[in-house]
Amino acid sequence: MSEYNWCHGPSCHTNKTQDRIRGVKGSKVLRTRKIKENNWNENRWDRYFCSQNCYDNFTNKYLRQVIAIAPRTECLETPIEDPKKVTHTSESRWGNHSWTTTEINVVDNA
Ligand SMILES: [Zn+2]
Repeated sequence: MSEYNWCHGPSCHTNKTQDRIRGVKGSKVLRTRKIKENNWNENRWDRYFCSQNCYDNFTNKYLRQVIAIAPRTECLETPIEDPKKVTHTSESRWGNHSWTTTEINVVDNA
């Protein structure tokens, strides 16, 4: 059985796209998009929103309520080993090139 959700974007139904046009001649509307539930959108935002834009519009409109679900009152930290500077070199017929990166490894508590 297929389940559908209406897009939760607050202004989804105002976007002027052909796929949103519904109704009979003389009584047309732009309708909120319908999203089909499937294995790929389970536990993902795209099960309830037709686009990143609709997701952003919803989040911006209801930001305080969304944050209130799980407020972050303290920072989180991930223990890491002392970072190492690693120099890389690349030699080619156009010349030699070197660059430095910082290697960051998470402390393994296993
Ligand atoms: Zn939408």
